[in-house]
Amino acid sequence: MKLNKYFDLREFIPKDIYEINGEDSINLIDKRCIYAAYAFRIEFGTISINDWLYGGDVNFRGYRPENCPIGVKRSMHKKGQAVDLVFLDTSIESVKRAVQRDNYYWRYVVGITRIELGTPHLHIDFKETNNDEIEWFHP
Ligand SMILES: [Zn+2]
Repeated sequence: MKLNKYFDLREFIPKDIYEINGEDSINLIDKRCIYAAYAFRIEFGTISINDWLYGGDVNFRGYRPENCPIGVKRSMHKKGQAVDLVFLDTSIESVKRAVQRDNYYWRYVVGITRIELGTPHLHIDFKETNNDEIEWFHP
């Protein structure tokens, strides 16, 4: 299911779950993840999320089921409120610097509350923080 010009729903959902639920899988992912991915795509070029749709084996960069072996127990991915973005046209460091420079846009227009440090991808999520700044956290 095509979501917009850049992304397909299957990039946010594991293959086996999409095969069972089809387009109803849209209810498993917070729309803010989709809108944020779009905003990053506009600013920083091509992004890879799950790639099983294109013949790859990546399944868990968006929604993760409760029994998912990847990630921590109470991961925001399991609430459908996190996504891991892999930037193909620019470095992760330059993306992080740009987000830090423009906290207002990414925190209050796009709505991101947290970004994980120390990963080769950009993990963004929407956990409530009561913080004007995006929280940069270690897993
Ligand atoms: Zn993540």
